[in-house]
This record gives sequence, C-alpha cells and structure tokens, in this order.
Amino acid sequence: MPSPISTDVLIVGAGVAGLWLNARLRRQGFSTVVVENASLGGGQSVKSQGIIHGGAKYALHGALTGASEAIADMPRRWREALAGSGELDLTGVRLLSDAHYLWSPGTLAGNLTSFFASKAVRGRVDQVKGEQLPPALQDKRFKGKVYRLAELVVDVPSLIQRLAELGGDSLLAGQVIEPWLEHNVLVGLRVDGREIRAQRIVLSAGAGTAELLTALGQSKPLMQRRPLHMVLVKGPTLKPLYAHCLGGGPKPRITVTTHPAADGQWVWYVGGDLAEAEGVAREPAAQIAAAQKELGQLLPWVDLSDARWATLRVDRAEPQQSGLSRPDNAFLAEEGRLLVGWPTKLALAPDFADRVINALQRDGIVANPPTPLPELPRPPLGVPAWEQLLP
Ligand SMILES: Cc1cc2nc3c(=O)[nH]c(=O)nc-3n(C[C@H](O)[C@H](O)[C@H](O)COP(=O)(O)OP(=O)(O)OC[C@H]3O[C@@H](n4cnc5c(N)ncnc54)[C@H](O)[C@@H]3O)c2cc1C
Repeated sequence: MPSPISTDVLIVGAGVAGLWLNARLRRQGFSTVVVENASLGGGQSVKSQGIIHGGAKYALHGALTGASEAIADMPRRWREALAGSGELDLTGVRLLSDAHYLWSPGTLAGNLTSFFASKAVRGRVDQVKGEQLPPALQDKRFKGKVYRLAELVVDVPSLIQRLAELGGDSLLAGQVIEPWLEHNVLVGLRVDGREIRAQRIVLSAGAGTAELLTALGQSKPLMQRRPLHMVLVKGPTLKPLYAHCLGGGPKPRITVTTHPAADGQWVWYVGGDLAEAEGVAREPAAQIAAAQKELGQLLPWVDLSDARWATLRVDRAEPQQSGLSRPDNAFLAEEGRLLVGWPTKLALAPDFADRVINALQRDGIVANPPTPLPELPRPPLGVPAWEQLLP
C-alpha cells in the first residue's frame, strides 16, 4: 500500500492548466500534488498551435465584447513570465514568434477596412510590408495585405518542460482515481490505492474531466468536445509562418504555425476553417489533398514537392455552451472542496489559475506547514505530434 499524502491542493490533469496552476500555487507556498494518467501536456496542450491570443481573432466576428475580457491581457502576462519578471519564471521557454499575423490574400480589402477601424482592434494591429513580412510571404508574387498582431507564439513542448520543472517533486503518475469520502464528504482522492487528503481538489483533466466527474459521482459541470482535423507539413524548403489567412468568414481560412522538429526541419501545423467541420468529415487522404490545394492557391511560390504530410484528429474540451460561446475567459465551477474547469485556450491558463486562487482566498484556505512528499512515480513529458507522425 503506497504511503498516504496530505496536501493543500490536489490537482488532477497535468496539461497547461494544471501545471500553470501548480507552479503558481507552489510559488505562493502551498503544498500540491498533480496527478497525470498519461503524459505531461500530452493531451490538447502539446497539440495546440501555441498562439497567445489577445482576442483579435474574436474581434473579427464581433464576439470580443470589451477590454474587460481576460484574454485581452494575456499577451502581456505571458511576455512578463517569459522574461522572468511575471507571475511565473518562464525563462528558457522558446518563443517561436514575437507576433502572429493576419493575412488577407488580396480580395478582402473592404471587409478588412471596417474590421481594422473597429474599436476592439485599433492600436493592436499594424500593417507590415517588404522585409517585415513573415519569411514565407516574402515573394514578389505575394499580393495580399498583412497585419501584425501583438500576440506571441510559444513552443509548447518547452513550456510544458519548464512548468514541470517548476512543479518540483509534486508530479505523480496515477491511473485509477476514486473518491475518498468521510461522512459522505469528499476529503481527498485515492490514486492507485494511495490516499491523498487535500483542502481543495481541482480537476483540470481536459477531455478526461467528464469521466472523472462520473467516477466521483458528479454530473456537473457538463463538458463538450469540438473536434479538429489538423494538417502537418514537414519539408526542407519551409520557412517560418505564423498567420491567420482571412477568408471573409468568421473563421480564418487557414491558421498556420511553424514548429521546430528535432532534426532541424520546420513543420507547418495548419488549422483554421480547414480543420473544422468539413475537414473533420474528410478522411486523412482527402484532408491532405484539401490542404495541398489551399496552400497551392495561397502560397504558389512555396515548393512543397519534397514535403511530407500527416493529419491529426484532436478534440478541444470545454464547458458545454449553448449557442455562441464566450471564448475569452477560463471556466471554473465549484462544489464543496471540488473545483472543476477548463482554460478553454492555452493562452488563458493564467486566468484559470487566477480563478482557482481567488476561490482559495475567498474560502480562507491557507498553506499548511509542508510535509515532505515521498518519492512519487513521475509522468513522462508529452511528445509533440510532429515527432510522432513525421519523425
Ligand atoms: C489543435 C488545437 C490547437 C489549439 N491551438 C491553440 C492556440 O494556438 N492557442 C490557444 O490559446 N489555445 C489553443 N488550443 C486550445 C488549448 O490547447 C487548450 O485549451 C488547452 O491546452 C487545454 O489545456 P488543459 O490543461 O485544460 O487540457 P490538456 O492539455 O488536455 O490536459 C489535460 C490533462 O489531463 C490528463 N487527464 C485526463 N484524464 C485524466 C485522469 N482521469 N487522471 C489523470 N489525468 C488525466 C490528460 O492526460 C492531460 O494531460 C488548441 C487546441 C487544439 C486541439
């Protein structure tokens, strides 16, 4: 029987939400344990594109309602953390791009004029030309307009690695999670038979949260999954591109981010409308053909003849929403000692942590004198999709 543990906060799920929260809590002196049943960040987090949105994409379809939305402040908070002067010390995390770009292929000028004049966007977007263009767009055949957004793109594998370092000895590989009740009140969890008592239990298990809630005898909050069918392209001729290509509709036609593979080549990771409903319905070969057609039309000067292609199906896990979602805040629900939520965006991990920390403060939860943890079996780091699919 593994030795029991008593901790201030027990977190289940070591994606960006659980790991960011864990690092914040430890910095504030709380004792924590984070249970992960697969790999650190290996759920949605290392499969994400790493864009730290400030809300400009939502402003495109009028869903960003004002500066009070948490997302507007995210690029600043991440920049400070990456510089080592923010709420966490994320020095050493690789910044892939200091900006994300909006790129219109040339036929949408009218549409864009009103968008760029709108209040939500003013001051956050500058047009760029010539040498300021992203390297992949620097070609004399390129005709569109490009705007620089004050949003950054981070290398998520190095982010997860750093957050895991900040988690110290608190990370626990665990499979079977059962409630630990005293007088019918949840006081902790049994993880692979080990009793872990905690002042608060946070479920940040992404797509695994619904099943965990069932195991704990809870039916709420309800969650939804929104599937994506992403495309990966790896090739010796690719140059960096971090951009939403506008297609006139509410969603970018494609969103391209560029990631370094272990062998030194670049991988384009392509999402946006291409990866949504119609793309989800396509078989992988048809999805690759659709991506080849899109990239061939939009970037005809890029030689993709030696490129290798793959697709990745992955669900976004979020609280269930009716109608138009509110994409610009993290979500947290509470039931006694149990706190359950989803950041809804990688960028909103700081907002998710704020919500938990505010709930602890409101309830007068303070750090107990720390007791040393036994040595715990540690979960491995999640492997990026391109290393698995295009080694
Ligand atoms: C293709 C794609 C691209 C995206 N791009 C962006 C982007 O550019 N910018 C952005 O801001 N957001 C983006 N997102 C959204 C973002 O990835 C997610 O909102 C975020 O990563 C969610 O983090 P999380 O920690 O809640 O979940 P996850 O990263 O999924 O982590 C949950 C963890 O819980 C673990 N777990 C599950 N069940 C259990 C259990 N029973 N016991 C223990 N552990 C368990 C899982 O193994 C996993 O490690 C993207 C999402 C997708 C799918």
